[in-house]
Amino acid sequence: MSRPLSDQERRKQISIRGIVGAENVAELKRGFNRHLHFTLVKDRNVATPRDYYQALAHAVRDHLVGRWLRTQQYYYEKDPKRIYYLSLEFYMGRTLQNTMINLGLQNACDEAIYQLGLDMEELEEIEEDAGLGNGGLGRLAACFLDSMATLGLAAYGYGIRYEYGIFNQKIRDGWQVEEADDWLRHGNPWEKARPEYMLPVHFYGRVEHTAAGAKWVDTQVVLALPYDTPVPGYMNNTVNTMRLWSARAPNDFNLRDFNVGDYIQAVLDRNLAENISRVLYPNDNGWLKTAEQPLSSGHCRDVLGVFQAARSAWMGIVAIQLNDTHPAMAIPELMRIFVDIEKLPWNKAWDITKQTFAYTNHTVLPEALERWPVDLVEKLLPRHLQIIYEINQRHLDVSEGGTKRINMAHLCIVGSHAVNGVAKIHSEIVKTQVFKDFAALEPEKFQNKTNGITPRRWLLLCNPGLAELIAEKIGEDYVRDLSQLTKLHEFVDDDLFIREVAKVKQENKVKFALYLEKEYKVKINPSSMFDVHVKRIHEYKRQLMNCLHIVTMYNRKPPRAPRGPAAPGYHMAKMIIKLINTVAQVVNNDPVVGSKLKVIFLENYRVSLAEKVIPATDLSEQISTAGTEASGTGNMKFMLNGALTIGTMDGANVEMAEEAGEENLFIFGMRVEDVTELDREGYNAQEYYNRLPELKQAIDQIKSGFFSPDEPDLFKDVVNMLFHHDRFKVFADYEAYVKCQEKVSELYLNSKAWTKMVIRNIAAAGKFSSDRTIKEYARDIWHVEPSDLKIPPPNESLYLYHCPI
Ligand SMILES: *Cc1c(COP(=O)(O)O)cnc(C)c1O
Repeated sequence: MSRPLSDQERRKQISIRGIVGAENVAELKRGFNRHLHFTLVKDRNVATPRDYYQALAHAVRDHLVGRWLRTQQYYYEKDPKRIYYLSLEFYMGRTLQNTMINLGLQNACDEAIYQLGLDMEELEEIEEDAGLGNGGLGRLAACFLDSMATLGLAAYGYGIRYEYGIFNQKIRDGWQVEEADDWLRHGNPWEKARPEYMLPVHFYGRVEHTAAGAKWVDTQVVLALPYDTPVPGYMNNTVNTMRLWSARAPNDFNLRDFNVGDYIQAVLDRNLAENISRVLYPNDNGWLKTAEQPLSSGHCRDVLGVFQAARSAWMGIVAIQLNDTHPAMAIPELMRIFVDIEKLPWNKAWDITKQTFAYTNHTVLPEALERWPVDLVEKLLPRHLQIIYEINQRHLDVSEGGTKRINMAHLCIVGSHAVNGVAKIHSEIVKTQVFKDFAALEPEKFQNKTNGITPRRWLLLCNPGLAELIAEKIGEDYVRDLSQLTKLHEFVDDDLFIREVAKVKQENKVKFALYLEKEYKVKINPSSMFDVHVKRIHEYKRQLMNCLHIVTMYNRKPPRAPRGPAAPGYHMAKMIIKLINTVAQVVNNDPVVGSKLKVIFLENYRVSLAEKVIPATDLSEQISTAGTEASGTGNMKFMLNGALTIGTMDGANVEMAEEAGEENLFIFGMRVEDVTELDREGYNAQEYYNRLPELKQAIDQIKSGFFSPDEPDLFKDVVNMLFHHDRFKVFADYEAYVKCQEKVSELYLNSKAWTKMVIRNIAAAGKFSSDRTIKEYARDIWHVEPSDLKIPPPNESLYLYHCPI
């Protein structure tokens, strides 16, 4: 009999992050040195850590190339239905580690880098995040790409290659300061420019109507240059493509009336065209994007390229999913191509268009529903406006008032065969309230597709300790089939497993505390509860309610259990950030509080920071006003990583409670019906203030300058908002929130009971894999089968050039 394996030996046998293999390691080391020499043109005397990161990135990339070519060849041969996911945001974060994991190379790379005397974590930290998104919507697109590749769908992500992604946030004296995100400064080893596939996109001009149909003439052309990035599936040899477009001025731009004096100015003016893809607009749930929008016609032109290449019947060849209304212009663009260029009759073109498009709604907040001014569209895309008018007359018939505007959601609804919300409760609100007139006409169109997250990035990559512990207990298959997490229910009473789960959390907390100490020079006690509220600052997400609770805890000193909360980050948003930092300053320096309560504002929240903070979190804050958060995906990441949720019955929280049992979450506050009822009665903030002494105390302190003695009026706008125009009713949920937090503190003191609840949550998190979400889109909207067919491994003889003689 062999002796039982030690913990370490057992973990070594787990291959969810790949087999080490001496051959793999040797090949990776050779690749690393070859790229350091030939690609980076450096030797060890002058190479910087960034060179080492780049050398490793190229060595790993080499393992993608054969699979990428092979996958695309395979799609050409088998001609499966193509899925185009159109999104103005792909919030990808870093690529190196995700690529190593999905190719099964992580362990081999760790070993190779170790043998080379370098530090893998240090190299990984050098990579800039691809911050081409604002928050949840953009990150969803990124998770979907991973799942589509893992499920073997012939899918393409189409978007914009912003030269500057979401701004870098700096906190100076408690205030937010924005810095440009020059993420491409050091080059991007993961993209391949494809100038040979450049396409013209037309703007402005006028429409001539002739016997042969409409002609759009005298246009200005901007070129759309595609950059392709590989998207590997998890250990299945599939590598899909994310194609991001960059705007380029044609060489004759503004030079048609060439004369010597204007030449220099004309060259300088090329920037006007190229600004289209310069910068991501940093507004969440409230886009008005005039500059980059026209490139969505670039999307559509390219999709059409696929139509022509397929040489097949028009129907059912491609599916196009619109990630919110931002790429809505693709609808009139496809109609224009069918009617004006392919000369299809209107009704035929309309049928195909509807069968092709599907639309995902992401918000019910009225200010975030896009309405484009008609005069702008008339100038920029005159033919598209005529087509929209035609659609309006035949299919929309919506009345107009004031400045004429196009309701982009209405356009998307009529132009699509499927419309979905992103969580059960949200889809119900979409169908019965926001778009009820459309749902009455075509009820079958309206669906739900509850969001999900990829377990590769949001568990294997960010929390290897927990991922491997789970694999030890239930095997490795759960990575591809997250529903298997239910097997963990068997271990809820297993004392050893409970201790191991708690130990992994503790290790993650120690590691994060060290990171905070190193990066921000703040010390937190790793045995305190990490109570985390990370998401974009928005009134509906109610960071202010959390802040009031912090003030209340502070006033109650001493708090019941030690805590170290954290929060990330326009006028109100900036004031909220300043308030949190101001309160933190007082709380953190009060000797009576000591280390019992620390408030830390996490600067520059982004994908790579989420990967660090989420695995270290004990308590996840999901406290939006019921009926305002469409789904949330942060909530799911925390659940999967062993945090407990304090939250309202909003978005996907409702389904998390359904899966885990309401008793395993800390649910509090108004339900949607209560909010509706309160709106009917009339919400009166003053009543709560008069009735609740601790709320009154906290507000009075903020209002009177207790936290900001040098500037006592600093927060008057915030307080005024809370009393007189708080659409999100912070005071109405304050009491229930504080009471619920007391329950949290009490349970936290019982470490074993806490961890058992954590295990019940992890065991119930299977539904929230984006693999499940994508399977539902594939079955109900795109009508394609996920293929278990493994693409064969790359074979050099298939692509190497052979001399014919
Ligand atoms: C998941 C994620 C989000 C979305 O978080 P919510 O809590 O659902 O709003 C936003 N930003 C980043 C960086 C994320 O990873």
